[in-house]
Parts: sequence; structure tokens; C-alpha cells
Amino acid sequence: MGIRYSTYIDSEKTQATTFGCSGCRTHLSTSGLILSKDYRGHTGDAYLMDQVVNVTLGRREFRTMITGRYLVSDIMCHQCGHRVGWKYHQTDEKNQKFKEGRYILEVNTIVKCK
Ligand SMILES: [Zn+2]
Repeated sequence: MGIRYSTYIDSEKTQATTFGCSGCRTHLSTSGLILSKDYRGHTGDAYLMDQVVNVTLGRREFRTMITGRYLVSDIMCHQCGHRVGWKYHQTDEKNQKFKEGRYILEVNTIVKCK
């Protein structure tokens, strides 16, 4: 309801690429926050991100992936509602704990902003 204030990512200083929503170009994250590019989303290649901003979380649900079972939520652009990936909340897989609190951004759902 009302106007949403988006966090503006200033990547000038860090030389990083800013990633935005492909629907409305709201800033979501930067290339400096990529932990791994070796992930697969629903729509193709995906990045594991340390932090993503300007998103709303969907319903928490358990999903079984190749590496185990996770409690996740889809993440949606808070401006236009476009689904851009998901957030890992929890896993029982001991060697996958590093993903907790991290995000997946699907490459096909984001654009590079300047
Ligand atoms: Zn958007």
C-alpha cells in the first residue's frame, strides 16, 4: 500500500555490476555479493547471493533439491511482484548450512543496470 521506498545500490565505488528486476529495474543486488555462479534455478542459471534487497518473501515451504531438503521462500520484487529467486531459511544438511539466510537470484529474471 502506498509508495514503496527502494534501496538504491551504488556500485560506482566498488566497480560491481548492479542487478535489477527485469520487470521494473528495481535494484536487487550487485555482482560483488555473488557467492557462487554455479547454481540452477527454475528458469536456468542462478547465482547464490550474500544479500538481496527490495524483495518480499513468499510462503515458507520445504523443497527437496539435489543437495537436500530446505526450508525456503520465493522472493519477489517489491515493486512489481516479479519472482526473482528464493531465500534459504534452514536446512538439516550439515554441509549445506552456509546457504541459510542466503538468496538465489535467477539470471533470467534479472537485468544488469548500467
Ligand atoms: Zn520489479
